[in-house]
Amino acid sequence: MQDDEQPMRLLPELTPETTPFWSGGAEGKLLITRCQACGHWIHPPQPICPVCLSRDVKPEAVSGDAEVHSFTINYHPFLPNVKLPFAIAIVEFPEQAGMRMTTNIVGYAPEDVFIGMKVHVEFLQQDDVWLPLFRPVDSLQAE
Ligand SMILES: [Zn+2]
Repeated sequence: MQDDEQPMRLLPELTPETTPFWSGGAEGKLLITRCQACGHWIHPPQPICPVCLSRDVKPEAVSGDAEVHSFTINYHPFLPNVKLPFAIAIVEFPEQAGMRMTTNIVGYAPEDVFIGMKVHVEFLQQDDVWLPLFRPVDSLQAE
């Protein structure tokens, strides 16, 4: 991936709860915390399941598939050395209705992103963080 293709991101602060999520990309895995008692996925990570209050939670890999739930196209240079515009999207995971994360859509013209677009995770390593970014599935098949 070209550096100039990448919107720069401020790196998250790692905590014991969030480290699996931000470092799973080292093994190509998107790790989401899951309740071992009732199966509920918990994102952002929390030490207690909000559904059944169990503390038996641990990170599990999801498929990496997702769908664009909503998006905005950013034209504002929040940070230097950022190629504009780029798409900031909220994607929803098929593993659980309502489980979503904010991310960037890469490898696609921002104006061609649409709600319902099928995307798949890929990772951009910056220091000890692997940022989950999402690439449209149809652009993967075209390659
Ligand atoms: Zn639970």
